[in-house]
Amino acid sequence: MKNLISDIPEILLMGPGPSCVYPSVSQALSAPTLGHLDPDFIRIMDGIKNMLQLLLKTQNRLTIPISGTGSAGMETAFVNSIEPGDPVLIIINGVFGTRMQDVAQRLGGAVDVLDFEWGVPVVVEAVKRAIQKKHYNIIAVVHAETSTGVCNPVEDIGMLLKGSDALYLVDAVTSVGGIPVNMDPWCIDILYTGTQKCLSCPPGLSPVSFSEKAVATLMNRKTKVPNWYLDLTMILNYWEGQTRAYHHTAPVNMLYGLYESLRLILEEGPENVYRRHLENHLKLVDGLEGLGLSLLVQLDSRLPMLNSVKVPAGVDEARVRRRLREEFNIEIGAGLGPLAGKIWRIGLMGHTARIENVDRVLDALKIVLEK
Ligand SMILES: *Cc1c(COP(=O)(O)O)cnc(C)c1O
Repeated sequence: MKNLISDIPEILLMGPGPSCVYPSVSQALSAPTLGHLDPDFIRIMDGIKNMLQLLLKTQNRLTIPISGTGSAGMETAFVNSIEPGDPVLIIINGVFGTRMQDVAQRLGGAVDVLDFEWGVPVVVEAVKRAIQKKHYNIIAVVHAETSTGVCNPVEDIGMLLKGSDALYLVDAVTSVGGIPVNMDPWCIDILYTGTQKCLSCPPGLSPVSFSEKAVATLMNRKTKVPNWYLDLTMILNYWEGQTRAYHHTAPVNMLYGLYESLRLILEEGPENVYRRHLENHLKLVDGLEGLGLSLLVQLDSRLPMLNSVKVPAGVDEARVRRRLREEFNIEIGAGLGPLAGKIWRIGLMGHTARIENVDRVLDALKIVLEK
Protein backbone atom coordinates (compact mmCIF):
# COMPACT_ATOMS: atom_id res chain seq x y z
CA MET A 1 0.00 0.00 0.00
CA LYS A 2 1.16 3.51 -0.80
CA ASN A 3 2.32 5.35 2.33
CA LEU A 4 0.47 8.65 2.28
CA ILE A 5 2.28 9.92 5.35
CA SER A 6 5.75 9.64 3.85
CA ASP A 7 4.49 11.68 0.87
CA ILE A 8 3.33 14.67 2.92
CA PRO A 9 4.92 17.83 1.49
CA GLU A 10 6.30 20.66 3.66
CA ILE A 11 3.62 23.31 3.51
CA LEU A 12 4.19 26.79 4.88
CA LEU A 13 1.10 27.20 7.08
CA MET A 14 0.03 30.85 6.79
CA GLY A 15 -3.68 30.38 7.32
CA PRO A 16 -5.86 30.87 10.41
CA GLY A 17 -4.35 27.75 12.05
CA PRO A 18 -2.83 25.29 12.32
CA SER A 19 0.48 27.17 12.23
CA CYS A 20 3.98 25.87 11.51
CA VAL A 21 5.11 23.58 14.33
CA TYR A 22 8.42 24.33 16.06
CA PRO A 23 10.92 21.59 15.04
CA SER A 24 11.71 20.81 18.69
CA VAL A 25 7.97 20.41 19.37
CA SER A 26 7.81 17.79 16.61
CA GLN A 27 10.74 16.04 18.26
CA ALA A 28 9.08 16.19 21.68
CA LEU A 29 5.95 14.55 20.24
CA SER A 30 7.94 11.49 19.32
CA ALA A 31 9.66 11.05 22.71
CA PRO A 32 8.93 7.68 24.40
CA THR A 33 5.36 7.44 25.62
CA LEU A 34 5.11 7.25 29.42
CA GLY A 35 2.20 5.97 31.49
CA HIS A 36 -0.23 8.76 32.35
CA LEU A 37 0.39 8.16 36.10
CA ASP A 38 4.17 7.80 35.79
CA PRO A 39 6.05 10.07 38.23
CA ASP A 40 8.18 11.48 35.38
CA PHE A 41 5.02 12.35 33.48
CA ILE A 42 3.46 13.98 36.55
CA ARG A 43 6.49 16.27 36.73
CA ILE A 44 5.84 17.26 33.11
CA MET A 45 2.19 17.99 33.97
CA ASP A 46 3.28 20.22 36.86
CA GLY A 47 5.70 22.00 34.52
CA ILE A 48 2.90 22.68 32.03
CA LYS A 49 0.66 24.14 34.75
CA ASN A 50 3.42 26.43 36.01
CA MET A 51 4.38 27.64 32.53
CA LEU A 52 0.74 28.29 31.60
CA GLN A 53 0.30 30.37 34.76
CA LEU A 54 3.37 32.42 33.81
CA LEU A 55 2.31 32.95 30.19
CA LEU A 56 -1.31 33.83 31.08
CA LYS A 57 -0.26 36.04 34.02
CA THR A 58 -2.48 34.20 36.46
CA GLN A 59 -2.25 32.63 39.91
CA ASN A 60 -5.25 30.39 39.21
CA ARG A 61 -4.62 26.89 40.54
CA LEU A 62 -7.08 25.50 38.01
CA THR A 63 -4.89 26.09 34.95
CA ILE A 64 -4.68 22.90 32.89
CA PRO A 65 -4.85 21.66 29.30
CA ILE A 66 -8.09 19.95 28.23
CA SER A 67 -7.88 16.98 25.84
CA GLY A 68 -9.35 18.27 22.58
CA THR A 69 -8.99 21.29 20.30
CA GLY A 70 -9.95 24.91 21.08
CA SER A 71 -13.64 24.15 20.75
CA ALA A 72 -13.32 21.57 23.54
CA GLY A 73 -11.93 24.43 25.65
CA MET A 74 -14.97 26.52 24.72
CA GLU A 75 -17.28 23.67 25.67
CA THR A 76 -15.39 23.16 28.96
CA ALA A 77 -15.66 26.86 29.80
CA PHE A 78 -19.44 26.89 29.40
CA VAL A 79 -20.45 23.39 30.50
CA ASN A 80 -18.76 23.88 33.87
CA SER A 81 -20.09 27.39 34.51
CA ILE A 82 -23.68 27.50 33.19
CA GLU A 83 -26.78 25.93 34.68
CA PRO A 84 -30.12 25.89 32.86
CA GLY A 85 -31.83 29.28 32.98
CA ASP A 86 -28.70 31.24 33.91
CA PRO A 87 -28.63 34.67 32.25
CA VAL A 88 -25.63 34.89 29.92
CA LEU A 89 -24.45 37.72 27.67
CA ILE A 90 -22.49 36.77 24.56
CA ILE A 91 -20.75 39.58 22.70
CA ILE A 92 -20.48 38.73 18.99
CA ASN A 93 -18.51 40.14 16.07
CA GLY A 94 -17.47 37.01 14.20
CA VAL A 95 -17.75 33.25 13.77
CA PHE A 96 -16.35 32.31 17.15
CA GLY A 97 -18.79 34.56 19.00
CA THR A 98 -21.67 32.80 17.22
CA ARG A 99 -20.15 29.44 18.22
CA MET A 100 -20.16 30.56 21.87
CA GLN A 101 -23.84 31.47 21.52
CA ASP A 102 -24.64 28.02 20.13
CA VAL A 103 -22.73 26.26 22.92
CA ALA A 104 -24.34 28.36 25.69
CA GLN A 105 -27.84 27.88 24.26
CA ARG A 106 -27.44 24.10 23.97
CA LEU A 107 -26.64 24.08 27.70
CA GLY A 108 -29.91 25.82 28.50
CA GLY A 109 -28.47 29.26 29.27
CA ALA A 110 -30.84 32.23 28.95
CA VAL A 111 -28.64 33.82 26.32
CA ASP A 112 -28.74 37.47 25.28
CA VAL A 113 -26.57 38.55 22.38
CA LEU A 114 -24.84 41.86 21.84
CA ASP A 115 -24.02 42.00 18.12
CA PHE A 116 -21.44 44.11 16.33
CA GLU A 117 -20.52 44.33 12.69
CA TRP A 118 -17.94 41.77 11.54
CA GLY A 119 -14.59 43.43 10.94
CA VAL A 120 -14.92 46.16 13.59
CA PRO A 121 -14.14 45.84 17.31
CA VAL A 122 -16.67 45.58 20.13
CA VAL A 123 -17.76 48.99 21.49
CA VAL A 124 -17.12 49.09 25.25
CA GLU A 125 -19.83 51.73 25.89
CA ALA A 126 -22.46 49.40 24.43
CA VAL A 127 -21.30 46.58 26.71
CA LYS A 128 -21.51 48.98 29.66
CA ARG A 129 -25.12 49.84 28.82
CA ALA A 130 -26.07 46.18 28.42
CA ILE A 131 -24.69 45.15 31.80
CA GLN A 132 -26.28 48.15 33.54
CA LYS A 133 -29.70 47.16 32.19
CA LYS A 134 -29.63 43.55 33.34
CA HIS A 135 -27.68 41.24 35.63
CA TYR A 136 -25.76 38.41 33.94
CA ASN A 137 -24.02 35.42 35.55
CA ILE A 138 -21.59 35.17 32.63
CA ILE A 139 -20.33 37.74 30.12
CA ALA A 140 -18.39 36.20 27.24
CA VAL A 141 -16.28 37.66 24.45
CA VAL A 142 -13.64 36.53 21.94
CA HIS A 143 -10.28 38.28 22.30
CA ALA A 144 -8.77 37.62 18.86
CA GLU A 145 -11.60 37.03 16.33
CA THR A 146 -9.80 34.75 13.90
CA SER A 147 -12.67 34.98 11.41
CA THR A 148 -12.12 38.72 10.84
CA GLY A 149 -8.69 39.68 12.22
CA VAL A 150 -10.18 42.02 14.85
CA CYS A 151 -8.70 42.44 18.33
CA ASN A 152 -11.46 43.08 20.87
CA PRO A 153 -10.97 45.38 23.91
CA VAL A 154 -10.83 42.56 26.45
CA GLU A 155 -8.94 44.59 29.04
CA ASP A 156 -11.43 47.50 28.93
CA ILE A 157 -14.41 45.16 29.31
CA GLY A 158 -12.60 43.52 32.25
CA MET A 159 -12.27 46.93 33.92
CA LEU A 160 -16.05 47.42 33.57
CA LEU A 161 -16.63 44.10 35.31
CA LYS A 162 -14.09 44.58 38.09
CA GLY A 163 -15.71 43.86 41.46
CA SER A 164 -18.96 42.55 39.93
CA ASP A 165 -20.16 39.06 40.79
CA ALA A 166 -20.51 38.08 37.11
CA LEU A 167 -18.00 35.65 35.60
CA TYR A 168 -15.95 37.14 32.76
CA LEU A 169 -15.30 34.44 30.11
CA VAL A 170 -12.76 35.06 27.34
CA ASP A 171 -11.88 33.05 24.22
CA ALA A 172 -8.11 33.46 23.92
CA VAL A 173 -7.53 30.69 21.36
CA THR A 174 -5.70 32.86 18.85
CA SER A 175 -4.38 35.57 21.18
CA VAL A 176 -2.31 33.49 23.62
CA GLY A 177 1.32 33.45 22.51
CA GLY A 178 0.84 36.22 19.94
CA ILE A 179 -0.29 39.27 21.93
CA PRO A 180 -0.33 39.88 25.70
CA VAL A 181 -3.10 38.06 27.59
CA ASN A 182 -3.06 39.13 31.25
CA MET A 183 -5.71 37.04 32.92
CA ASP A 184 -5.58 38.28 36.53
CA PRO A 185 -4.84 41.98 35.84
CA TRP A 186 -7.73 42.05 33.34
CA CYS A 187 -10.14 40.37 35.81
CA ILE A 188 -10.83 37.39 33.53
CA ASP A 189 -12.50 34.48 35.38
CA ILE A 190 -12.60 31.82 32.69
CA LEU A 191 -10.25 31.54 29.74
CA TYR A 192 -9.45 28.92 27.13
CA THR A 193 -6.92 28.72 24.33
CA GLY A 194 -5.67 26.16 21.80
CA THR A 195 -2.36 24.63 20.82
CA GLN A 196 -2.36 25.07 17.02
CA LYS A 197 -2.50 28.85 16.77
CA CYS A 198 0.27 30.95 18.35
CA LEU A 199 1.56 28.09 20.53
CA SER A 200 2.67 26.35 17.32
CA CYS A 201 1.89 22.78 18.38
CA PRO A 202 -0.33 20.50 16.34
CA PRO A 203 -4.07 20.76 17.11
CA GLY A 204 -5.30 18.61 19.98
CA LEU A 205 -5.12 20.40 23.34
CA SER A 206 -6.93 23.35 24.83
CA PRO A 207 -5.44 24.98 27.93
CA VAL A 208 -8.12 26.45 30.24
CA SER A 209 -7.93 28.51 33.41
CA PHE A 210 -10.63 29.19 36.04
CA SER A 211 -10.35 31.85 38.76
CA GLU A 212 -11.17 31.07 42.41
CA LYS A 213 -14.53 32.78 41.85
CA ALA A 214 -15.25 30.54 38.85
CA VAL A 215 -14.18 27.44 40.81
CA ALA A 216 -16.49 28.44 43.69
CA THR A 217 -19.38 28.72 41.21
CA LEU A 218 -18.48 25.29 39.84
CA MET A 219 -18.31 23.67 43.30
CA ASN A 220 -21.66 25.21 44.34
CA ARG A 221 -23.61 23.99 41.31
CA LYS A 222 -27.13 22.73 41.95
CA THR A 223 -26.87 20.29 39.03
CA LYS A 224 -24.10 17.94 37.92
CA VAL A 225 -21.89 19.15 35.07
CA PRO A 226 -23.85 17.68 32.12
CA ASN A 227 -20.78 16.31 30.30
CA TRP A 228 -18.72 13.52 31.83
CA TYR A 229 -15.56 13.97 29.74
CA LEU A 230 -15.18 17.72 30.36
CA ASP A 231 -16.28 17.78 34.02
CA LEU A 232 -13.56 19.79 35.76
CA THR A 233 -14.61 18.63 39.23
CA MET A 234 -13.39 15.17 38.18
CA ILE A 235 -10.49 16.18 35.91
CA LEU A 236 -9.01 18.21 38.79
CA ASN A 237 -8.43 15.05 40.80
CA TYR A 238 -6.06 13.89 38.08
CA TRP A 239 -4.22 17.21 37.68
CA GLU A 240 -3.92 18.09 41.39
CA GLY A 241 -3.01 16.72 44.79
CA GLN A 242 -1.36 13.54 46.00
CA THR A 243 -3.85 10.99 44.71
CA ARG A 244 -3.80 11.79 40.95
CA ALA A 245 -6.93 9.75 40.32
CA TYR A 246 -7.37 8.38 36.81
CA HIS A 247 -10.14 10.12 34.86
CA HIS A 248 -9.28 9.56 31.20
CA THR A 249 -5.92 8.62 29.71
CA ALA A 250 -4.07 11.88 29.13
CA PRO A 251 -2.81 12.41 25.55
CA VAL A 252 0.73 11.97 26.85
CA ASN A 253 2.75 12.80 23.72
CA MET A 254 0.62 15.83 22.86
CA LEU A 255 1.38 17.12 26.33
CA TYR A 256 5.13 16.72 25.66
CA GLY A 257 4.58 18.97 22.63
CA LEU A 258 2.77 21.61 24.67
CA TYR A 259 5.48 21.47 27.34
CA GLU A 260 8.16 22.13 24.75
CA SER A 261 6.24 24.95 23.08
CA LEU A 262 5.65 26.75 26.40
CA ARG A 263 9.30 26.23 27.29
CA LEU A 264 10.40 27.81 23.98
CA ILE A 265 8.09 30.82 24.38
CA LEU A 266 9.24 31.50 27.94
CA GLU A 267 12.86 31.05 26.90
CA GLU A 268 12.52 33.57 24.04
CA GLY A 269 10.59 35.80 26.46
CA PRO A 270 6.87 36.52 25.93
CA GLU A 271 7.56 40.23 25.29
CA ASN A 272 10.07 39.30 22.55
CA VAL A 273 7.60 36.83 21.06
CA TYR A 274 4.88 39.53 20.95
CA ARG A 275 7.33 41.98 19.36
CA ARG A 276 8.29 39.39 16.73
CA HIS A 277 4.60 38.99 15.82
CA LEU A 278 4.05 42.76 15.61
CA GLU A 279 7.17 43.49 13.55
CA ASN A 280 6.45 40.76 11.02
CA HIS A 281 2.81 41.86 10.79
CA LEU A 282 3.91 45.44 10.00
CA LYS A 283 6.29 44.17 7.32
CA LEU A 284 3.57 41.99 5.83
CA VAL A 285 1.09 44.88 5.73
CA ASP A 286 3.70 47.10 4.12
CA GLY A 287 4.35 44.53 1.42
CA LEU A 288 0.65 43.87 0.82
CA GLU A 289 0.00 47.59 0.40
CA GLY A 290 2.94 47.67 -2.02
CA LEU A 291 1.06 45.09 -4.09
CA GLY A 292 -2.00 47.36 -4.11
CA LEU A 293 -3.90 45.29 -1.53
CA SER A 294 -5.68 46.61 1.55
CA LEU A 295 -6.71 45.23 4.92
CA LEU A 296 -10.25 44.72 6.18
CA VAL A 297 -9.64 45.96 9.73
CA GLN A 298 -8.94 49.55 10.79
CA LEU A 299 -5.39 50.30 11.90
CA ASP A 300 -5.91 50.40 15.67
CA SER A 301 -7.65 47.04 16.07
CA ARG A 302 -5.67 44.73 13.80
CA LEU A 303 -4.39 41.43 15.08
CA PRO A 304 -0.72 40.85 14.23
CA MET A 305 -1.25 37.09 13.91
CA LEU A 306 -4.26 37.20 11.56
CA ASN A 307 -4.33 39.55 8.59
CA SER A 308 -7.60 39.87 6.65
CA VAL A 309 -6.86 41.06 3.15
CA LYS A 310 -9.60 42.35 0.85
CA VAL A 311 -9.86 40.43 -2.42
CA PRO A 312 -9.60 42.97 -5.28
CA ALA A 313 -12.51 43.18 -7.71
CA GLY A 314 -12.24 40.71 -10.58
CA VAL A 315 -9.82 38.36 -8.81
CA ASP A 316 -10.83 34.72 -8.34
CA GLU A 317 -9.89 34.33 -4.68
CA ALA A 318 -10.11 30.52 -4.58
CA ARG A 319 -7.78 30.27 -7.60
CA VAL A 320 -5.19 32.44 -5.85
CA ARG A 321 -5.23 30.16 -2.81
CA ARG A 322 -5.05 27.07 -5.02
CA ARG A 323 -2.03 28.42 -6.91
CA LEU A 324 -0.24 29.40 -3.71
CA ARG A 325 -0.69 25.84 -2.46
CA GLU A 326 0.13 24.04 -5.72
CA GLU A 327 2.99 26.18 -7.04
CA PHE A 328 4.50 27.61 -3.87
CA ASN A 329 3.55 25.16 -1.07
CA ILE A 330 1.92 27.96 0.92
CA GLU A 331 -1.46 27.73 2.63
CA ILE A 332 -3.51 30.84 3.33
CA GLY A 333 -7.13 30.97 4.52
CA ALA A 334 -10.43 32.00 2.95
CA GLY A 335 -13.15 34.19 4.45
CA LEU A 336 -15.93 32.67 6.56
CA GLY A 337 -19.67 33.40 6.72
CA PRO A 338 -20.51 36.88 5.41
CA LEU A 339 -16.83 37.40 4.51
CA ALA A 340 -16.56 34.28 2.30
CA GLY A 341 -15.21 35.24 -1.11
CA LYS A 342 -14.39 38.77 0.13
CA ILE A 343 -11.15 38.27 2.08
CA TRP A 344 -8.08 36.11 2.40
CA ARG A 345 -6.78 35.40 5.89
CA ILE A 346 -2.99 35.37 6.19
CA GLY A 347 -1.75 34.00 9.48
CA LEU A 348 1.48 34.90 11.24
CA MET A 349 1.05 32.66 14.22
CA GLY A 350 3.81 31.52 16.55
CA HIS A 351 6.71 29.89 14.72
CA THR A 352 5.20 31.09 11.38
CA ALA A 353 5.81 34.74 12.36
CA ARG A 354 9.27 35.04 10.75
CA ILE A 355 10.59 37.48 8.17
CA GLU A 356 11.53 34.72 5.70
CA ASN A 357 7.89 33.58 5.66
CA VAL A 358 6.63 37.14 5.15
CA ASP A 359 8.99 37.52 2.19
CA ARG A 360 8.00 34.15 0.75
CA VAL A 361 4.25 34.81 0.78
CA LEU A 362 4.71 38.34 -0.63
CA ASP A 363 6.92 37.08 -3.48
CA ALA A 364 4.41 34.34 -4.30
CA LEU A 365 1.41 36.68 -4.16
CA LYS A 366 3.17 39.12 -6.48
CA ILE A 367 3.58 36.40 -9.13
CA VAL A 368 0.09 34.94 -8.69
CA LEU A 369 -1.65 38.33 -8.81
CA GLU A 370 0.26 39.40 -11.95
CA LYS A 371 -1.86 37.17 -14.13
C1 LIG B 1 -9.57 28.25 16.14
C2 LIG B 1 -10.47 28.95 17.09
C3 LIG B 1 -11.41 28.26 17.91
C4 LIG B 1 -11.70 26.80 17.75
O1 LIG B 1 -10.63 26.01 17.91
P1 LIG B 1 -10.55 24.55 17.21
O2 LIG B 1 -9.17 24.15 17.58
O3 LIG B 1 -10.77 24.74 15.76
O4 LIG B 1 -11.58 23.70 17.84
C5 LIG B 1 -12.15 28.99 18.81
N1 LIG B 1 -12.00 30.32 18.93
C6 LIG B 1 -11.15 31.02 18.16
C7 LIG B 1 -11.04 32.49 18.33
C8 LIG B 1 -10.36 30.35 17.23
O5 LIG B 1 -9.51 31.04 16.46
